[in-house]
Amino acid sequence: MHKQNRKTLIEKMGPRSVAIFASAPPAMRNHDTEHLYRPDPNFYYLTGFEEPEAICVLAPEHPKHQYILFVRPKDKKAETWSGKRIGVKDARRHYGADRAYPIDTFSEKIGEYLKNADTLYYALGANDEVDSEILHLFTRSVKGRIRSGKGLDTLTDPSPILAESRLIKNEEELRRIRKATEVTVAGHLAAMQAVRPGMYEYELEAVVESTFRKSGANGTAFPTIVASGANATTLHYTPNNCQIEADALVLIDAGAECERYCGDVTRTFPANGTFTDAQRDIYQLVLEAHHAIIDCIRPGVSIDEPHQKSIELLMDGMRRLGLLRGKKKKLMKKKAYEEFYMYRVGHMLGLDVHDVNCVHEPNGDFKTFQPGMVMTIEPGIYVAADTKGVPPAYLGIGVRIEDDILVTESGCEVLTDSVPKEIDEVEEFVRGA
Ligand code: MG
Ligand code: MG
Repeated sequence: MHKQNRKTLIEKMGPRSVAIFASAPPAMRNHDTEHLYRPDPNFYYLTGFEEPEAICVLAPEHPKHQYILFVRPKDKKAETWSGKRIGVKDARRHYGADRAYPIDTFSEKIGEYLKNADTLYYALGANDEVDSEILHLFTRSVKGRIRSGKGLDTLTDPSPILAESRLIKNEEELRRIRKATEVTVAGHLAAMQAVRPGMYEYELEAVVESTFRKSGANGTAFPTIVASGANATTLHYTPNNCQIEADALVLIDAGAECERYCGDVTRTFPANGTFTDAQRDIYQLVLEAHHAIIDCIRPGVSIDEPHQKSIELLMDGMRRLGLLRGKKKKLMKKKAYEEFYMYRVGHMLGLDVHDVNCVHEPNGDFKTFQPGMVMTIEPGIYVAADTKGVPPAYLGIGVRIEDDILVTESGCEVLTDSVPKEIDEVEEFVRGA
């Protein structure tokens, strides 16, 4: 997969160009403790290499080495503390590089690969240390060009090319996404079976995340949200520390990460297995929109269509339920729906949970769906507990229903369909626990 990804990029790079990608630096959690390491998505997409302090160089016109890796050398003492390193020899052997070097020789060796290049592809902003090194060498090369007529004259961001490529998933990516979504489904099913009024939100978080890990996930694709009652009206609620009341709805938004690819699913269900009338009103509205939106996804349809449809349907429902009052046209113009539905209906999904967002054509129009795109569809309605002028029964209700959708040749496939979402199915499944 990574080899094919490099090939796709190289085909799009112009003549006399070299591309450099750096792995992400480790992120400090506090003092001398690091967060669990996650490689930079573009770097990983091209190399499959998962260690920090690594640089990948693509030099398509170099006579001997077109793919070069700079990595941490083996170091027995360091490895005793922080684990085995792949090392220079195995970086070449197992990751397909034509040549590998120790990372601390980068500035010494890179000149050889830039010798005949005019254009350097490099994305600033992901690794400060490498950024300053690259800017330094670019400036030096530009100055040299003024004197000798030879050297770099263009620094350009490779991210848009990679985004186009990452937008359409290849077979191996789809295998991993299927795995991530399967594991995500398992986590949600386990939590819906485990829920009992009186439990704490974090107990469900533990059920979800232990299911992910037991199923072989790297971990979560993002911090797990378990929001009961009015907590569900905070979109990215993560403390997960409240007790779940008997008649509360519980919103769980969670996703597993498997082999670096992400799942992202939300279900909202009654803790005691029965929706109240008010909860049912809002849930039914979100559910109908959810189905109608998914029904419109197929190749050739504008990527913006699901969002426009979600606004239309949710706003009609808000007026029906008395959340919004007034003429539709006027409310639409004011974007009055944003009080209860404040985001776009979905996002691309892949190596990142909010994956590459290159959804526009160069002329500014939205692209159309193509087979191999994967996105979430997640309409919702959130009535904050202190909202003025709405039927009191709806205060503090937040509902989101989110599935992961693969665009196919003939329409789309809902990868996460096996978590119940119809009202009677949800009630039965939760009660059956
Ligand atoms: Mg989500
Ligand atoms: Mg999402």
